[in-house]
Amino acid sequence: MAKILIVEDEQAISVLLKYNLEKAGYETVCVAQGNKVLPAVEKDTPSLILLDWMLPEISGLELCKIIRNNPDLKNIPIIMLTAKGQEEDKITGLSAGADDYVTKPFSIPELLARIQTNLRRAGNVASAIKKEYVFRDIVLKSNEKKVFRGENYIQLGPTEFRILQLLISNPTQVFSRDEVLKTVWGNSIYVEPRTVDVHIRRLRKALNEFGPDYIRTIRSTGYSLDDHQAEE
Ligand code: CA
Repeated sequence: MAKILIVEDEQAISVLLKYNLEKAGYETVCVAQGNKVLPAVEKDTPSLILLDWMLPEISGLELCKIIRNNPDLKNIPIIMLTAKGQEEDKITGLSAGADDYVTKPFSIPELLARIQTNLRRAGNVASAIKKEYVFRDIVLKSNEKKVFRGENYIQLGPTEFRILQLLISNPTQVFSRDEVLKTVWGNSIYVEPRTVDVHIRRLRKALNEFGPDYIRTIRSTGYSLDDHQAEE
């Protein structure tokens, strides 16, 4: 099981994160002060760190640099959490060595998706994520990388699989093309938003061979998985 270290001094946010991460199947450790982070990391190496920027004692930014300069710790994925939303802050955070950056207030499904993406990149995916997702008659088995619709096996490309995993792990939640891009392709690669539509079309075609269309297109917004009538 992947262990997430939550570094956050605002107790309400820390509790919210702990609750949702544990519900999603992660183990958590919470730390509220900057100077308690390194002892916690050295005692028991986490799979990923959610690191608040503004902390008492040592700032998240300083900690990020310290962790990145430690050869034993430098490969732990770090997602910075911050109320700052300026582009230059984002660049400062990423250049200090953060792998990703989430601005408060954040949506829990998006944060969970980012955590998955960063763990996957770090090679922890097999132990990190829930094994099976179900929506109506669609079943996605994430460890086996297989999708079924009723009794039928659905063959999907890797991109279609990741899109379906994002949608099925957050049913009825609407994802913009940008959110799908960030989650499925990551922040670092430039992909045209229209590319998402192409992969959604392929995903639909494969799924709909065996049942009704559960992928909902929300015009000029994005996509979700639910059983509304498709609008496209
Ligand atoms: Ca704070």
